[in-house]
Amino acid sequence: MSALARAHGAVNLGQGFPDFGWPADVLDHAAEAVRNGWNQYPPMRGLPELREAVAAHYRRGQGRDVAADQVVVTSGATEALAASLIALIEPGDEVVLFQPLYDAYLPLVLRAGGVPRFVRLAPPDWRIGREALAQAFTERTRLVLFNNPHNPSSRVFDAGELDALAEACRAHDSLILSDEVWEHVLFDGRRHVPIAALPGMAERTVKVGSAGKIFSLTGWKVGWVVAPPPLAEAVAKAHQFVTFSTPPNLQSAVAYGLGKPVAEVERTCAAFAAARDRLSAGLEAQGYAALPAEGTYFLSIDLAASGIAAPDTVFCERAVTEAGVAAIPLSAFYAEDPATHVVRLCFAKQAETLDAGVDRLGKARALFA
Ligand code: PMP
Repeated sequence: MSALARAHGAVNLGQGFPDFGWPADVLDHAAEAVRNGWNQYPPMRGLPELREAVAAHYRRGQGRDVAADQVVVTSGATEALAASLIALIEPGDEVVLFQPLYDAYLPLVLRAGGVPRFVRLAPPDWRIGREALAQAFTERTRLVLFNNPHNPSSRVFDAGELDALAEACRAHDSLILSDEVWEHVLFDGRRHVPIAALPGMAERTVKVGSAGKIFSLTGWKVGWVVAPPPLAEAVAKAHQFVTFSTPPNLQSAVAYGLGKPVAEVERTCAAFAAARDRLSAGLEAQGYAALPAEGTYFLSIDLAASGIAAPDTVFCERAVTEAGVAAIPLSAFYAEDPATHVVRLCFAKQAETLDAGVDRLGKARALFA
């Protein structure tokens, strides 16, 4: 979609990157670190100052008992996921996945030899059902690959859903690889509940975080896992031969950023919430039905509820080629039995971009009248 957006000069509300919101002093720190700091291989598990800053960040913000030896710094959350899957599953192990799926999950699970077992989440409420969990877990379940807040549905799972999932993990003695990269991009007063905070979960959780989302710097690719020492050790062994390390100057800037008051991150979130509201009001004015967005940079349109009968893929293709606006069809995030009437938009954009996107989405709607 991004390639099509470029080819057609379209407004790109497809790919999930912000065009505002990063802290200037963190950039200054990185520039300074490039000039005067560490530019050679850093320690394999990450700069000590960053490992400590990550641990302190979670101790302070989430009341978690986390020490630096539980942290492995990776080249983005993507590498954290890859290294964790390589380290933690053996060919033939079953892995529970929730679809719609963040796009990296299934290829990584399959390449690591995992056998996927899907829990299907359906629009408009995307709830995790106990029944669906009971069907997905078996005696061969080794690991659950979870994502909360959830991309692409923008759901923040509630206490009942988290309890049900934790109960299933405990009952099947499975590990959980919990992708929490969106933990700070939450709206309307929501607070993140790390899955490791639930009873009996800390010892089985490998949590994934990313500075890309915390500081709106998606291109930096500085991420981490936080896990009990034996699991962190296993992930570090895989990380050693995937990337070995991550640019130390950026690590240093992220350590500096994590040391700042969390209120600054929350201010950026308020700006993203305002952008979400602007996009959703614009969409409504154009006759679209938008689904709630509780976290992440994304908001979805329900095509069927908007009176558009076309499948999401057809809508997106015509929207980008004929109306000049890129969106992502949600069916692309399902491995099987896709929902085909929802499209995802990224709202972490400046007002002019959003307004231009809304205007073009009005044109796209007219194509299906
Ligand atoms: N997991 C999820 C759920 C994401 O949305 C993203 C980025 N869009 C990533 C992982 C990848 O993060 P990173 O850029 O740090 O590799």
